[in-house]
Amino acid sequence: MQVRRLGIHESVSAVFPPERLRDALSDADPAVPVVGDDELGDCDAVVTFAYSDAFLDADLRWIHSIQAGYDRFPLDTFEERGVALTNSTGIHDTSVGEFAVGLMLSFARRLHTYVRNQQSREWSLPAWDEPFTLDGERLCVVGLGTLGQGIAERADALGMEVVGVRRSGDPTPHTQAVYTPDDLREAVSDARFVALAVPLTDETEGLVGAEEFDAMREDAYLVNVARGPVVAEDELVAALRDDEIAGAGLDVFEEEPLPDDSPLWDFEEVLVTPHRAAAERDYYRHIAGLVRENVERVTEGEEMTNRVV
Ligand code: NAD
Repeated sequence: MQVRRLGIHESVSAVFPPERLRDALSDADPAVPVVGDDELGDCDAVVTFAYSDAFLDADLRWIHSIQAGYDRFPLDTFEERGVALTNSTGIHDTSVGEFAVGLMLSFARRLHTYVRNQQSREWSLPAWDEPFTLDGERLCVVGLGTLGQGIAERADALGMEVVGVRRSGDPTPHTQAVYTPDDLREAVSDARFVALAVPLTDETEGLVGAEEFDAMREDAYLVNVARGPVVAEDELVAALRDDEIAGAGLDVFEEEPLPDDSPLWDFEEVLVTPHRAAAERDYYRHIAGLVRENVERVTEGEEMTNRVV
C-alpha cells in the first residue's frame, strides 16, 4: 500500500477541528487535505470519526478511526474488500481514567448534589452519613485494556481496593484480584463501584443486566465509559427505580444523544455526561502520533499498529 494522499474526513469535527490534525501532520509525507464525502476521489486513506459508504465507493485502502471503538464500521465488508481499518486504542488511559475517577469522586464526596443545589442558591446539607471517601472502597473494573488499566491505576492511587474482570483472568498492575467473565457476578457482588471498559462486541452486548444488578450491592454505583449497549438500559432503569443499586455515572447510552424522554435524566443519583470521557484539548495530537506512526510503517512495509481488520 502507498499513502500519497491522506484525507482528514470532516466528520472529525465532532471531536476537534479537522484543520488542527491537518496542521499537526503537515510534516508527514502524504498530502493531508480536509475532505468531505465527495472529495475522497484522490485519497488512498482517510482519518475519520464517522463511517461513510463513500469510503468504499472511493476504493480507499486504509481507514483510521479516531475512536477506540469500531462497532459502527462494517468489518466483514472491509475484510472482503481488503480495506485496512486501524483504531485509536492506547491513548485514552489518562483522559478516561481521570473521568471515571471523577464520577466516582462526585458520588462519594456528593459534588453533584452541591452543583444541583447551587443552581437554586440552596445551602443544603447532606445527611451526616451520606458522604464517604473512595479510600478503602472496592472497585471492580470490567475490561482491563487501555481504559480499564487507566481507571485501575488512578483508583489504586486513591487507596481503592481494585479488582477486575479480564478474559484471560491473568493479573494486571493495580488490581488485587482478576476474575474471568464467567465469574462476572461474583466479581461485582461486593464492589461499591463497577466500571465498564470493554469494547462493544457480540460477547459484551447486554453484558450487564438484571442479574448483575441483582448481584450488586444496594449501595453500589455503575460507571459506564465503554458503550451504551454493554448495559441493558431498561434493566438499569428498573434497578435504579427499585433501589437495587445506588446510582450510575453514564457517559454512553443505547441511543445518543440520550433522548429527551429518557428516565435516566431524572434520577438524583445518575450523572449523565455526553460521551465525552475521552475529550481533551490535546486529543488531535495523540491521533496525529498514531497516524504518523502508521504512515511510517506503511512506507517501510511493516505491519500497522492498532490494526482491527
Ligand atoms: P482496548 O482494546 O485497549 O481494551 C479493551 C479490553 O477489553 C481488552 O483488554 C479486551 O481483552 C477486553 N475485553 C473484551 N471483551 C471482554 C469481555 N467479554 N470481558 C472482559 N474483558 C473483555 O480498548 P480501550 O481503548 O480500553 O477501549 C475499550 C472500549 O471503550 C472501546 O472499544 C470503546 O468502545 C470504549 N471507549 C469509550 C470512550 C468514551 O469516550 N467514553 C473512549 C475510549 C474508548
